[in-house]
Amino acid sequence: MMNGARAEVVVDLDAIAANTAVLRERVGRPLMAVVKADGYGHGLVPAARATLAGGADALGVAVVEEALALRAAGVTAPLLAWLNGPGEDVGAALAADVELSVNAGWGLDEVVAAARATGRTARLHLKVDTGLSRGGATPEQWPDLVAAAARAQADGEVDVVGLWSHLAYADAPTHPTIGLQVSVFEQAVAVARDAGLTDARRHLANSAATVALPETWFDMVRPGVAIYGLDPLGGDPAAHGLRPAMTVQARVLLTKRVPAGVGVSYGHTYSPRSETTLAVVPVGYADGVPRAGSNRAPVLAAGAQRLIAGRVCMDQFVLDVGDDPVEPGDRVVLWGPGTDGEPTAQQWADAVDTIHYELVARIGGRFARRYVGSAGAV
Ligand SMILES: *Cc1c(COP(=O)(O)O)cnc(C)c1O
Repeated sequence: MMNGARAEVVVDLDAIAANTAVLRERVGRPLMAVVKADGYGHGLVPAARATLAGGADALGVAVVEEALALRAAGVTAPLLAWLNGPGEDVGAALAADVELSVNAGWGLDEVVAAARATGRTARLHLKVDTGLSRGGATPEQWPDLVAAAARAQADGEVDVVGLWSHLAYADAPTHPTIGLQVSVFEQAVAVARDAGLTDARRHLANSAATVALPETWFDMVRPGVAIYGLDPLGGDPAAHGLRPAMTVQARVLLTKRVPAGVGVSYGHTYSPRSETTLAVVPVGYADGVPRAGSNRAPVLAAGAQRLIAGRVCMDQFVLDVGDDPVEPGDRVVLWGPGTDGEPTAQQWADAVDTIHYELVARIGGRFARRYVGSAGAV
């Protein structure tokens, strides 16, 4: 009775390319597509290739390992890795032509040492903390960092190609911190330019800012989640011309008729009020289906959306489909674009009190991944 994969994440590469093109067109300036965290769960290399097919000018990842994996797969586009800690293999990054971000003097020292050792000029983005209080040099540290980078640039060891920061509240486009961060950023840029770092590209905007805040676009934007067709503002992505690229689905494993009042799944937190049909779905929290979805999260099964019945287990969950016809092998859709009756990742996020980012980035485990569309395919 099984037809097709037991459980699969279907990724529409054409949607990723089209979303990239829509955003690139909207901003009319270079776009760095963020493909960290395995392309937000869509697959690092295929997602990267699809964004490039859609017109991305550069790629952004968190860690050097992600950048090296892209290079190993033959991706040659400009590529920034920004989450660099002490003792990183900077030499490998330079050898692979990976641009690096520097937050602090010690980070610059490590890059300069690697540049001397390898004889390569390091392409750097200097990060300033304009108010997120996460990465970046504080405005107090910034003049010293900039001066040291300018010296290293004069010595030919580094080339400062970016000046950048990150917003705390871009998903609340009227929040007063946005104007404050923009103004701190502009002051930091002025300090860097005065120190002779005149050629660096300025970039600040994540997806929400790319969609909603033109005053943050500067010389390049850096969207992630919107590339995958999810609305960073939590609304309808179609309002921004975006199309969700991910569909998460599984095949029913087993069905059974049960009498009213049986207890369903661990702890019996669900009981049908009348005789009904249960369907067992073979995915669980080890596959990235949040346990918080127990009795709350919707799925499309047997022609209608229904809440998961009882607890989500490690490998499976149960549905109550009433008297609707369902058979082993039937398709159950957890989330997708929402255009065929299935729930969206946003609906799931609302149900389990998180953001769609977390859901798509964590789905995995024993789900197979299947690509549809041809953008960037090799
Ligand atoms: C993840 C990330 C982005 C992309 O954020 P989205 O909200 O997904 O667009 C941009 N810049 C930095 C520094 C990030 O960490």
